[in-house]
Amino acid sequence: MAVITWDSRLSAVAGSAAAKIEKAFGYRTVGQLLTHYPRRYVDKGSVSDLGAFELDEQITFVARVVRSAQKTYPDRRRGGLAYRLEVSVATEQDTLSLTFFDKKKHLAGWRARTIAEGATGLFSGKVGRFRDTWQLTNPQTKIFGGVTADQEADFALAEFEAMPNLMTIYPATATLQSWQIGDAITLALSMLEVFPETLPEGVRRSRGLLDARQALEWIHRPDDWGQKQAAEERLRFEEAFVTQTALAQRRAGLAALDAQPRRGRSGGLLDRFDRRLPFTLTEGQHRVSEEILADLAAGHPMHRLLQGEVGSGKTVVALRAMLRVVDSGGQAALLAPTEVLAQQHHRSLAQLLGDLAAGGMLGGAADGTQVALLTGSLGAAARKSALRDAASGAAGIVIGTHALLEDVVRFADLGLVVVDEQHRFGVEQRAVLSEKAGLTPPHVLVMTATPIPRTVAMTVFGDLETSTLVELPWGRAPIQTTVVPLRDHPEWVERAWVRIREEVDAGRQCYVVCPRIGDGAMGVAEEEAGSAAGETSLAAVDEITPMLQAGPLAGLRIAPLHGRQSSEEKDRTMRSFAAGDIDVLVATTVIEVGVDVGNATTMVVLDAERFGVSQLHQMRGRVGRGGHPGLCLLVTWAEAQSPARVRLDAVAGTTDGFELSRLDLEHRREGDVLGASQSGRRSGLRLLSVLRHEDVIADARTAAEEVVAADPVLGLHADLMRSVDRLHESEQADFLEKA
Ligand code: ADP
Ligand code: MG
Repeated sequence: MAVITWDSRLSAVAGSAAAKIEKAFGYRTVGQLLTHYPRRYVDKGSVSDLGAFELDEQITFVARVVRSAQKTYPDRRRGGLAYRLEVSVATEQDTLSLTFFDKKKHLAGWRARTIAEGATGLFSGKVGRFRDTWQLTNPQTKIFGGVTADQEADFALAEFEAMPNLMTIYPATATLQSWQIGDAITLALSMLEVFPETLPEGVRRSRGLLDARQALEWIHRPDDWGQKQAAEERLRFEEAFVTQTALAQRRAGLAALDAQPRRGRSGGLLDRFDRRLPFTLTEGQHRVSEEILADLAAGHPMHRLLQGEVGSGKTVVALRAMLRVVDSGGQAALLAPTEVLAQQHHRSLAQLLGDLAAGGMLGGAADGTQVALLTGSLGAAARKSALRDAASGAAGIVIGTHALLEDVVRFADLGLVVVDEQHRFGVEQRAVLSEKAGLTPPHVLVMTATPIPRTVAMTVFGDLETSTLVELPWGRAPIQTTVVPLRDHPEWVERAWVRIREEVDAGRQCYVVCPRIGDGAMGVAEEEAGSAAGETSLAAVDEITPMLQAGPLAGLRIAPLHGRQSSEEKDRTMRSFAAGDIDVLVATTVIEVGVDVGNATTMVVLDAERFGVSQLHQMRGRVGRGGHPGLCLLVTWAEAQSPARVRLDAVAGTTDGFELSRLDLEHRREGDVLGASQSGRRSGLRLLSVLRHEDVIADARTAAEEVVAADPVLGLHADLMRSVDRLHESEQADFLEKA
């Protein structure tokens, strides 16, 4: 037999099916084919005679075709004709109907010729009901010995006997049968001489994992369930290990870079800031601050993710880090995802710093610094002076949106980049900022209020150290969340408006959140959900605002806020709201991140089911910030028990962001967890789930770290190195880059 290798072309084992396999799954090599694992295993011993079965049961059986008739019918969706093959099959005792649907004439013809009267085969599918009879629709089918006549039944039986105990069913397509893939894999397993061994011997042995050849043979051709299990364990670990090796290399690479240590000085801005803080730091803030200050003092660039619930006080922690850098003669940049947030940060930092932020100005503290704001909407003069202060170093802290990334922006000595709300910034943007730092890369602190489960953090953000603020600062009042189900009680929406009026009468302020802006313009929720414009029945800011003004909230001071407004208008509105000159803000999700108005106590979210779980959690964090209890009303038309309602009930049922974030992730496909481009089959993760296999990932991370520590360039582990290279070439690299 010819010798083939892992990288041999698919046609070496798949013959004429190679082109189909490549088209369906994108595989080009034998190695890629071998990582196409079975979707299901069928115990031959359990191949049922038909007998008793239930609706939706998956059954597999051997039977003879007793009738096969091709029908055509008009295809309403695409026009033209479609084909239906109606088949009856019989075992010794029973008969059953099978129906096969085909759109293409040549496929329908091929199917009718193969599944012909007198043929014997193996069928596998889910039992359904159609017009009072049991039937299988498009079952997986293997006809023995081609089209067989009656006298060939013995031959068919012999072929069945020769099949393995556990039969494998592969992910297949309409034109590519599971069996064709299985045949190519069987051939590959028998022809391949050398199976690349990605796992170092020691790693493999200490965990009692199979070697590569055994694992692949057993995943595809197990004799029993135990073999299949052992194979899966090994291959799952391997997936985690390759990913973790890539990440460990990256961490090692960063650790090998030099950065300027920023050790600060006593009696500097940080000390003076601490002394004037109007509150005491929580224990968590202390601990996390210490971690960050230690990183800043080290000679390598910090790469840290700071997670903390909305309102957990991340800003103060970040500000302390920035002051430490300024005390060391450097500058810090704070990158915010929206103009509203940048402006708000600018205001609140200036307020927290007081005269410490008026360096070089009349009345400012001696050797204080300046806080500059740089956004896209600045007037020419303001922009020029912000650019000048950044370049000269007069501004120790520069706050901005993506405008900070522009070419013209220069820093005298950029030592720290703080990224607020990480999910709006990609790695490219951070890289641009890093380049502005000159010779040595800056320290980087990424803040997020979307809690990330530990395993996802380890996989997706594997090269970031993480710090977590768990408790909320003292004085934060609890938020009560209630679902308002309009389907059962349409009149209850009035109660929401009554609540708002009561709050405003008590001197408080409120938010009303809508999924739409109006006039066909989409709000963020819609853009993200990718839903078509034209769903005009959803609540829109431009319609709800006048409705409230004229009706239920007449007499209150109401203003709209959304992404289509000019930045001056948005800023003006936010300022008036913060100053208490507006009672009710009717907004889109622009208020989702970071908006901080302590006097706001109530939020009414309209068409709440249109928002994601984590998004709702973020939004409600806008109320109850000032020591007054918060109330969040989730108004929805979703039916009780519907998935949308269940999600809303979950949000109402807990304020634990980690639990909600996990729930959010579980509702998405694994690929979406890893990033937009991670369509399942290309992610390279077949057996590993970042949500379910936390222990495997943690173990693989430890193993990978040891291997990389001893052999940073993997010179002693050629097969592993090639797997890591392949990973970088694949689309999976995109999600590694995200970190
Ligand atoms: P987030 O983590 O959502 O960015 P912020 O940093 O905006 O939270 O903090 C929320 C509010 O809590 C701010 O008004 C901040 O001044 C206040 N705060 C932060 N730390 C404390 C603390 N230790 N004690 C009391 N209030 C605090
Ligand atoms: Mg914040």
